[in-house]
Amino acid sequence: MPLQLFDTWTRSVREFTPLKAGEVGLYTCGPTVYNYAHIGNLRTYLFEDGLVRTLKLNGYRVNHVMNITDVGHLVSDGDEGEDKMEAGSRRTGQTAWTIAALYTDAFRADLKALNINEPDVWCKATDHIAEQISFIEEIEKKGYTYRTSDGIYFDTAKQPSYGYLGRLDIAGLQAGARVDLGEKKNATDYALWKFSSPAEKRQMEWDSPWGRGFPGWHIECSAMAHKYLGEYFDIHCGGEDHITVHHPNEISQTEAAYGTRLANFWMHGYFILLNSAKMSKSSGEFLRVQLLIDKGYDPIAYRYLCLTAHYRSQLTFSWDALDAAQTALERLRNTAYGLGAPSTADQDFVGRFMAMLNDDLNFPQALALTYEMLKSDLGAGVKKATLLKFDEAFGLGLAGWVPKVEDVPADVRAVADARWAARNAKNWPEADRLRSELTALGWTMKDGKDNYALTRG
Ligand code: AMP
Ligand code: ZN
Repeated sequence: MPLQLFDTWTRSVREFTPLKAGEVGLYTCGPTVYNYAHIGNLRTYLFEDGLVRTLKLNGYRVNHVMNITDVGHLVSDGDEGEDKMEAGSRRTGQTAWTIAALYTDAFRADLKALNINEPDVWCKATDHIAEQISFIEEIEKKGYTYRTSDGIYFDTAKQPSYGYLGRLDIAGLQAGARVDLGEKKNATDYALWKFSSPAEKRQMEWDSPWGRGFPGWHIECSAMAHKYLGEYFDIHCGGEDHITVHHPNEISQTEAAYGTRLANFWMHGYFILLNSAKMSKSSGEFLRVQLLIDKGYDPIAYRYLCLTAHYRSQLTFSWDALDAAQTALERLRNTAYGLGAPSTADQDFVGRFMAMLNDDLNFPQALALTYEMLKSDLGAGVKKATLLKFDEAFGLGLAGWVPKVEDVPADVRAVADARWAARNAKNWPEADRLRSELTALGWTMKDGKDNYALTRG
């Protein structure tokens, strides 16, 4: 079954055909590095990682570009308020440049902890000021800009197709915003370049043909996508919040400068919701990967949890759900380990698996198929090989997983070894006695083909 993906542009699942045979150009909106990423942000990057893995399993070479937003994203998400980087600098007492480096490193550590592959190209907004300025000049040349006292704005009314991606009710937005428009002509107009305020000294500012200042948030993505992927490329991704503002703005800029809607497919990951009061930011708990680690979870359990829900449905996070994911992951790891060495994958199961991924990345169904495969009467080596093939998409790291020997106390290990020997000698009464001894010590022993696995409880 050929790869089918949901395209937010058409609001439909349609067949994916690359623009250039065998290759996929992919742009994913990256983090704003004024703080750590929370696990919600990371769900979006997990969805994108699942997409990249699926594209690769379909035989495509993927050129994946991700930006780092280190300037220009304002607190309001619109064109008002302080730059998040400058606010982050005040919050931490460190320079905007220092925190950008710090949170970029922290973000990359989160990706590693979740086994998310890094993009082929990382690009920082502050490294591409010249590209953003020339992109704005291009938009200006085409007649879509106007000047206010605080910046250069995009005139969305000049573009009849503006907002199509978000199916925006332009007239309604305009009516609702009339009093707050200020110098903006239309509610949906947005800043391409903002002037530094004479009242405060910004840490991040540059000269431009329009005056000293900094780029708007949306222009960085249009300019860097253009530089690394060209005027029209295959897939652009982000979180669902980008459907109504950030992505329509990216599209309008590229449409104005180059006459394309930037990407052939627009894909969006849906949010993680936190509904327990205990986990709200107001109680001081910021749900970072590091917090999960501090609470004793394996970050891959969060990856497993995300696999249980389709990327186009919202997922409510709870500690109970994470507990269940961690238990399921541990069982799956022990099962995988117990299967011993892989032989050859079962092509029938692999075919069914690929059909599920190719059906708009149906990972929850693919996970269910995994358990069906493990319960089947295939041989251990075939099951192992098939499972490892599946894991190229899941990214749970099953191939390299071994039970942590150092976690098992020496006396427990000695009883387990004795039981393994008794079992192999077919001395069943002794094997059973030793199993009871292990249970009394608080451990469960699971027999595999070539070795055993021990779990607590
Ligand atoms: P930001 O660092 O705020 O620019 O956001 C980084 C990415 O995370 C964007 O693609 C957002 O759409 C996405 N995002 C933000 N909040 C959530 C959430 N609760 N669940 C899933 N994705 C999110
Ligand atoms: Zn973007």
